[in-house]
Amino acid sequence: MSRFFSEKYKNLTPYTPGEQPRDMKYIKLNTNESPYLPSEDAIEMAAQAARSLQLYPDPECHELHEKLASLYKVDKSMVLAGNGSDEILNFAFMAFCDKEHPARFPDITYGFYTVFAEINGIPYSELPLNEDFTINISDYTNKNETVFIANPNAPTGIALSLEEIELIVKSNPDAVVVIDEAYVDFGAESAVPLTKKYDNLLVVQTFSKSRSMAGARLGVAVGNAALIADLNTIKYSTNPYNINRMTMAAGIGTLCDEEYTQKNCASIIENREYATERMKKMGFEMTPSLANFIFAKHKKIGGEALYQALRERGILVRHFSKKRLEDYNRITVGSREQMEILCDRLEEILEEKK
Ligand code: PMP
Repeated sequence: MSRFFSEKYKNLTPYTPGEQPRDMKYIKLNTNESPYLPSEDAIEMAAQAARSLQLYPDPECHELHEKLASLYKVDKSMVLAGNGSDEILNFAFMAFCDKEHPARFPDITYGFYTVFAEINGIPYSELPLNEDFTINISDYTNKNETVFIANPNAPTGIALSLEEIELIVKSNPDAVVVIDEAYVDFGAESAVPLTKKYDNLLVVQTFSKSRSMAGARLGVAVGNAALIADLNTIKYSTNPYNINRMTMAAGIGTLCDEEYTQKNCASIIENREYATERMKKMGFEMTPSLANFIFAKHKKIGGEALYQALRERGILVRHFSKKRLEDYNRITVGSREQMEILCDRLEEILEEKK
């Protein structure tokens, strides 16, 4: 730390992204990326957009917002694109939390929430998940604090039902409820339709997972027009050109081929079920994941040891050292071939433990 670093940030612990190793080629199952290429339209349109990089991008993202509005069946005033959903989430912490509206989220969830609260000086509480990693709904009803819930949750993949989400939204009429749907396309139910009914619901989605665009950084907020206007105030006060031309074009291209996205999601679900079945036979305990990852532990081998054993065999998964998570690993669901190799390696590792 330099002697110039602001007093405000001295105690900040930044978010740690999943490792992106360069020492060898791994089967990368550690950051929940898609194993599939972006859609052909996305690739072509991004390449075309590169020819106009001397110009600023459209700060109002007209065409992208139109396409998003039509995807979500809402008015254009109800959507906002962001530089990854991380940016949208940070905007939401900035816009909807303060001392009177502290943030409230589970103790086991996306690790960035505490960082966004800390960097913005927002008070927050982390509510313990139940023993089985499910969310205790009553921790979030009638609280009138700004709620952040990842649905499905990370790193467990466990989802709340739409009825449960509605209960939380309805019972906090004077606070915003943010539902982070980064993984919703792999089997959970989206709360987007509820945004027309409740003015305090903000749904956040990403193009990083189901739409194969993690490298482009594109996220979306859907909510009441007044909430979106508030997010725009933050956006225009920080980075009006937050979506670059190539990302914008790739996003528009992706939305031209919804069938491709749906097909990829169906494959991920199939591959998740395949790997889950095989891992169950090997004796793994897993949470019922509706996401593009599996959260698994085995009584014969510790979480860290399994992570290392897979790494030595060229497979990268994500291990968290946090209490209650340390026995587990989060394994991204990749292609069928990757899942076959993963399961073969897991069998080998367990065989050696006999
Ligand atoms: N929310 C959750 C729950 C996530 O796991 C992630 C991915 N790390 C994000 C949001 C952020 O995704 P992105 O910024 O790539 O849209």
